[in-house]
Amino acid sequence: MKKLILELIKEKFFTHNSNVHKQVKNYSTRLVSLSKTGTTKVCNIFKKVTLNDFSWKSPKVIAGAIAVVLVAGSGITYLNGTTSAAYILINGQQVGLVSSLEDGQKLVDGILKKRGQPVGQKAMTHDKIDYQSVRVKKAALLDKVSENDLESKLTSYIEGYELKISGTQVAVLPSKEELEKVLNTYKDFYAQPSESNKVSSIEFEEPVTMTPVELQPDKVKLSEQVLQILKDGQTTTKEYEVQPNDSWWLIARKNDMKTKEVLAGNPGMNEDTRLQIGQKIKLVSVTPYLTVISKGVYTGTETIPFDVTTKTDFGLASGTTVVKQEGSDGLKEVTYSYTKKNGKNIEKTVLDEKITKKPVNQVVAKGPSRAPVTVGYVSRGSGNVSGIGWPLRGRINSYYGYRWGGFHTGIDIDGDRGDPYVAGASGTVVSAGWDGGYGNAILIDHGNGVMTRYAHSTKLLVSAGQQVSKGQTIGLVGSTGRSTGPHLHFEIIVNGDTVNPLNYLP
Ligand SMILES: [Zn+2]
Repeated sequence: MKKLILELIKEKFFTHNSNVHKQVKNYSTRLVSLSKTGTTKVCNIFKKVTLNDFSWKSPKVIAGAIAVVLVAGSGITYLNGTTSAAYILINGQQVGLVSSLEDGQKLVDGILKKRGQPVGQKAMTHDKIDYQSVRVKKAALLDKVSENDLESKLTSYIEGYELKISGTQVAVLPSKEELEKVLNTYKDFYAQPSESNKVSSIEFEEPVTMTPVELQPDKVKLSEQVLQILKDGQTTTKEYEVQPNDSWWLIARKNDMKTKEVLAGNPGMNEDTRLQIGQKIKLVSVTPYLTVISKGVYTGTETIPFDVTTKTDFGLASGTTVVKQEGSDGLKEVTYSYTKKNGKNIEKTVLDEKITKKPVNQVVAKGPSRAPVTVGYVSRGSGNVSGIGWPLRGRINSYYGYRWGGFHTGIDIDGDRGDPYVAGASGTVVSAGWDGGYGNAILIDHGNGVMTRYAHSTKLLVSAGQQVSKGQTIGLVGSTGRSTGPHLHFEIIVNGDTVNPLNYLP
């Protein structure tokens, strides 16, 4: 500004007189430096200048002098005049100057808005912000506090809602409504309500809490991210020590995992990798944060898997097989009430069942066996009862075949804890003891590739290697292993594969 005034004076009026020019320049400089003097004093000095050094008679000079007074005066007034302003204080500490309280508030508001923008709200601060009114030279306002200065000194937070599952923080969303929406979407993801699936209740197994928290905006997640976190679950790694007779399959079975999953946690190993007793392997499993327990009634069509019947054909070479008739699955209309855990049935009661298409058995011709047949492969209804007998009498709670979330490899026969059950046929006990998801289980070999399994027992009455006869009590009904209530899970295994027991029982 100073410069500007001088330039103006120089150019417009005093270019012709270098002497006067110098003088005025001098005084102008002095005038500007006399910051606290009022306009009257300035005028007095100027009067002195004009009286002593200027040629009175020149109208140009007079006009020039007046102009100088006016131009320089206004500039000086601008620079030397005072104005009201405010100091902004954060927690009692002066941060800088703002032109007014309103301006300061706007500045702070702007910063808080910007910080909260990513989560759609205005950030808040616990800082104590004060404004101290002052009068300052107008020039001082050229050096107001910048947004950057303020940003580095202003702390802030936003309000969010924290989702805790079993006491552990899993995610934070900006509002409770958003959290509830995510949880409901997650519930529906597993409960799958539909026309055919009337869900009557959905609950979480784990305790869920939502509480307001203060946090930095970057800690807040998007609803979709939180849903994904819940669906992905948490990864836990356990160490497992290889036991005698363990195989990859058995380790998987013992830990309710798939062989593939066990191998995935042990890079470089495959199903053929030999296991050493005492060797430590990793069990990496993913468990959901939240378990959805849903109850309801399902009405719909289900597949009835076909069975394979084998007939001995003496025209074939021993050990060879020929498919005589392709099997095809049947269909049934079922209505059942259920209890599901994350989409998988843990309890199912058939209310109504109507077969709409009968399955067609696959008929396989097999060359004569070298070993004598001890158990007949007899289909139900054929009248031949020389085969396997019922191990327990009771309602069938769950049939063989596909059911929600997997394949059921046997039938579940209802019973009370402690009910004795018997061997379906005579044979040799292969194993009797704890068998992972099967709980306390017995596996009996009846010869000719036929075996039967009895799972979830509360007590076993036989041991491995023992000979048993058909109808002999071998164990007591229980609910050990992967079971939700006392029942006998009964399997028939032919040549290593499970078959539908109902096709072999009288
Ligand atoms: Zn079962």
